[in-house]
Amino acid sequence: MGSGVYTESVASLIDELKRLPGIGPRTAERLASHVAGLPKDRALRLADAIRDVTRSVRPCSECANITELDPCKICADSSRDRALICVVERTRDLHAIEESGYRGVYHVLSGALAPLDGIEPRDLTVEQLLSRVRRGGVAEVILATTPSFEGEQTALYLAEVLGPMGVRLSRIARGIPVGTQLEFANRASLADALDGRREVGAAEPPRRRGGRAPNDDGRPEDGSPKESSSWS
Ligand SMILES: [Zn+2]
Repeated sequence: MGSGVYTESVASLIDELKRLPGIGPRTAERLASHVAGLPKDRALRLADAIRDVTRSVRPCSECANITELDPCKICADSSRDRALICVVERTRDLHAIEESGYRGVYHVLSGALAPLDGIEPRDLTVEQLLSRVRRGGVAEVILATTPSFEGEQTALYLAEVLGPMGVRLSRIARGIPVGTQLEFANRASLADALDGRREVGAAEPPRRRGGRAPNDDGRPEDGSPKESSSWS
């Protein structure tokens, strides 16, 4: 949009910047013009920093967290509870939950399902998560995707595919307002959301919201979350 007035190299910088989260076309143009006007050494330092990051980090082969070491520090830490996997969309969500004092391990999906934008399960690390659970030793998977439409859809999908696998499934509580990015939620409310997580069971209506007690609908509380959750 409007990038026809730029030279080819500036236009391609704008295109790359536009792909970054939170950067719209106007901001991309502004940043690109700024970079184009920077003294050469400063602009190249930025380029070097980007190059260094891409060379030295990779996804952890276990949890897909962005890391310089593989496995990542968290997966390598023997004091963490490996039976507890907290599933998040992004590494930045992992950092937010880490702040809350959580001591299990993680699985980073690398995004959320958004079929309209062409983001399907195969674009995320879903298969990697399933094979972790299949390998055994996992007692509970906490679905900590963001409280957004995509995050909820992703949690529903994961509950469906993980449901038959014999692990306890839970969803973080709704202490965090819908639409909030986990990274901006404060430490206390994230800790509350984790503590107040609710088991995702076969009979639970997926759309129930509000502050009512979780067990007031008479659904059996027999600790058998292993039934497949046939929602929808
Ligand atoms: Zn890891």
